[in-house]
Amino acid sequence: MKSKSRVGEEVLVANACPCGATDCACALYHNGAAAPDALSLMRSRYTAYVLKLYDYLMNTWHSDTRPAALEWEHQRWLGLEVKNYSVESPEHATVEFVARYKVNGRAYRLHEISNFVCEQGKWFYVDGEFPVTTDQRSMNLRKIHR
Ligand SMILES: [Zn+2]
Repeated sequence: MKSKSRVGEEVLVANACPCGATDCACALYHNGAAAPDALSLMRSRYTAYVLKLYDYLMNTWHSDTRPAALEWEHQRWLGLEVKNYSVESPEHATVEFVARYKVNGRAYRLHEISNFVCEQGKWFYVDGEFPVTTDQRSMNLRKIHR
């Protein structure tokens, strides 16, 4: 019997990139090319979380907000859905996305609006806002678990 999530996993494997796009260049950015816009950087950072590319995540995090170290949780990333991409100015853009993942078999949903800035032609992740309230988030989790 074929379940829905199983089909999703097959699609994920068939795609060239974990970010879900077939025409992205995440691997190029991981290897040193500058991401041309915030959306490309965001996708490549998601892929870097999937592939656990520690240095890439740190290097693309703005120095003002970058944590001293990253701790990996045992997420199994399931997919990325970009909801909105907004270029506010040549130096500032936001990307709203939903990333789904599992930890110890439990499904989670990360809904974030990320802020990016461009400095000297290079985009950096600054921080994120979480548009869903705690109550709504737990409702969403229940929905996934059902
Ligand atoms: Zn990609």
